[in-house]
Amino acid sequence: VGTELLLGSIANTDGQMISEKLSGLGMTVHHHTVVGDNPQRLAEALETARGRADIIITTGGLGPTYDDLTKQTICRVFGRELVLHEDILEEIRTWFETKLGKTMPENNVQQAMLPAGCTVFDNPVGTAPGCAFEEEGVHVLMLPGPPFECRHMFENRAQPYLEKLTDGVIVSREINIFGMGESSIDQLLHEKMAHMTNPTLATYAKPFEVRLRATAKAESGEEALELAEEGVGECLDYRRYHMLDTLLWVKAYCCYRLDRREEGVRLYRQVYSLLLSTREMRRLQILREQVKELTGVDLGE
Ligand code: ATP
Repeated sequence: VGTELLLGSIANTDGQMISEKLSGLGMTVHHHTVVGDNPQRLAEALETARGRADIIITTGGLGPTYDDLTKQTICRVFGRELVLHEDILEEIRTWFETKLGKTMPENNVQQAMLPAGCTVFDNPVGTAPGCAFEEEGVHVLMLPGPPFECRHMFENRAQPYLEKLTDGVIVSREINIFGMGESSIDQLLHEKMAHMTNPTLATYAKPFEVRLRATAKAESGEEALELAEEGVGECLDYRRYHMLDTLLWVKAYCCYRLDRREEGVRLYRQVYSLLLSTREMRRLQILREQVKELTGVDLGE
């Protein structure tokens, strides 16, 4: 929630961070909505969200200023009262006195007003507490906007709350795949990824590599780990025929990065010949582009 996001003044890094964390917890994210500091449009967005999601997580708009309307609007939409939490007010007062050495301005009292019956998420790294409640099967979690506070509260308060909603333990295992673009991996594993439910598989593109994450859920940590590792293992099987050139590709990259440049380029040429012999044109193109960017050498010449 925040007009700054709509204006493009800041990027929605809170949304990205939360999505990444939720994927790690094996929770599927279906929608991101950005809405300005406007109670009417925020209420509309919340009405839509409650009709299609089990969990709604908001960030921002918990501050003490007039445009910080998240809690009020959520309470209005979900029919909850906002009530003063004396203990939270005391914490905010103390925070001002000890961390900032000044008296708490009176408008900060608003930050201690929270929905009746909510679970309070205290905020040891800022002033605005977050909170969560459940209404008719929908869980609503409110987190502060500043990225550091948002991450801290997610990891320490929201995550334990969310973990309680899922029965069982969730474990992820990752492998980094080198030398293949995300779309090639998707082509190779798409069918498999679409049909897997436990573990689920997801890819994340990183510079020069793609991270493949298998997330599994089971009653115990050991079972979940076993499932996740099986998921990763199956993907490796899928890729077995790519292994030789990929390993060489990794080695070439490492040599180059370790300043053994001639050796790196020589290895790159070997990978190029291998791919040429197997007529893997898309990978050839990726290799050629990557080597050109990294070393300035055009392998195709
Ligand atoms: P505060 O108590 O500091 O007012 P708040 O919960 O009310 O916190 P906002 O006032 O909405 O949060 O945002 C505070 C700051 O946090 C913004 O100016 C912006 O820099 C940052 N911020 C807010 N939302 C996001 C977001 N989705 N992604 C990244 N940064 C954000």
